[in-house]
Amino acid sequence: MDDLEQLYQDLILDHYKQPRHRQALTDEEVSVEADNPLCGDQLRLAVECDAGRVATIRHDGKGCAISQASASMMCETLTGRTVEEVGVAVRDFVAAMRGEREFDPSWPDEWLALQGVCKFPLRVKCATLAWHALQKALERQVE
Ligand code: ZN
Repeated sequence: MDDLEQLYQDLILDHYKQPRHRQALTDEEVSVEADNPLCGDQLRLAVECDAGRVATIRHDGKGCAISQASASMMCETLTGRTVEEVGVAVRDFVAAMRGEREFDPSWPDEWLALQGVCKFPLRVKCATLAWHALQKALERQVE
């Protein structure tokens, strides 16, 4: 394993052990629920928008290190961006995880850290679970 890979692994573990934006949510607060039965990951998001921006994203749930770290990383890097930016970010990240496009070196380290997961196709769903959930939550808010 080279230094960069080690750095990315450490970043994933750090987010798993100390998740950002994680909070026990009440049923009323939950915007969307998502699960990945293949792995047993369960996730709930509470998303609040304000003046065209994704003001807060909070998550709770349980599952593997990849799914939990990815949710934390997503909240950390997308909070405060406009709804439009978040939509583009989710689309680009999910496409890269599926191998449909390259990872862009200008993306946040947290996203790049997850690219190692692409080597394990079954875990791609773990890494994109939160992102799909966020997309669904935003679509509902627009309705
Ligand atoms: Zn998983």
